[in-house]
Amino acid sequence: MPENKKRIMSGMRPTGKLHIGHYMGVLRNWLSFQGDYDCFFAIADWHALTTKYDQTKDLKQNIIDVALDWMASGIDPEKSTIYLQSLVPQTAEIFVYLGMITPQNWVERDPTLKDMVKMLRKDSEEEKQDISSLISYGLLGYPVLQSADILQFNASLVPVGADQLAHLEFSRNVARRFNHIYKKNYFTEPQPKLTETPLIKGIDGQKMGKSYNNDIKLSDSEEETAKKIMRAITDRTRIKRTDLGHPELCEVVCPYYKIFAGREIIELQTKNCELALWGCSDCKKELAGIINDYFREIRTKRRELEQNLDYVKEIIKNGSEKAESMASKTLKEVKEIMHLYSL
Ligand code: SF4
Repeated sequence: MPENKKRIMSGMRPTGKLHIGHYMGVLRNWLSFQGDYDCFFAIADWHALTTKYDQTKDLKQNIIDVALDWMASGIDPEKSTIYLQSLVPQTAEIFVYLGMITPQNWVERDPTLKDMVKMLRKDSEEEKQDISSLISYGLLGYPVLQSADILQFNASLVPVGADQLAHLEFSRNVARRFNHIYKKNYFTEPQPKLTETPLIKGIDGQKMGKSYNNDIKLSDSEEETAKKIMRAITDRTRIKRTDLGHPELCEVVCPYYKIFAGREIIELQTKNCELALWGCSDCKKELAGIINDYFREIRTKRRELEQNLDYVKEIIKNGSEKAESMASKTLKEVKEIMHLYSL
């Protein structure tokens, strides 16, 4: 790996199989970084515990599923480091030291934490639970742990969408504060690597998510995908097959065409909708074929990898060892800078 490559750090919480929104919004960006950057991608299981600490039954399988989805999508262990957060215990120790220097009000007003609480609030409303009892000490520390994830590798870039710039500011402030308190320009202040993250709605027109039962998974079969597309929301004003359609009012199917189809197909679909040459089910069948074509290679690769789980586990192990050796070096230096006692 040439020394002059900038380092990028990012990750995902292992909360289940990934959907096409993850691919279009996150993984495609990661793929574009490979080769040009020294990439570290974390399967962030500790972060999953900040809100899902009582739902760990499937955690091991979720970790494997994330690795399978990443590798099937083209995240290449030869070019990028895929690691499991909890296999790098040094991160936790760095998190403790960063936690000591982080003011309480920084944590409380951090947008990452606010987003996580919003998510919890939604779940708790559904289950009619009191949210305050669900916000754990671990969740409060989420932004500090995220800072440890990034700073331990001295990552200079973190991919974020334009609306998430404030999320990274926390880690930049922690790095700056550490450097200021200990009078050493040690931590790199991570810079945002701005990425485009097209929003893909779920088939019901809401935000796509596993818990909303409205997603199309990367691992879904072609039949499952077609069935889901048949349930997708269309133009609510088009009641009969003979009604003229309004692509601009079609909430899910038309936007999917815009994302997955080529220009000529989009023109044909628009015309056939407006003139009622296609019924919505014709339009959806065509779309299911387009989406299945788009993800066919990834799905084939995923099935192959599923037959070789030892290899996938080996990749996670090797990546975690590499991450561990880098985090160890950072931890040692942090302790020296803070004048902590070492044996
Ligand atoms: S024909 Fe297609 S684009 Fe038109 S309303 Fe139906 S699903 Fe939507």
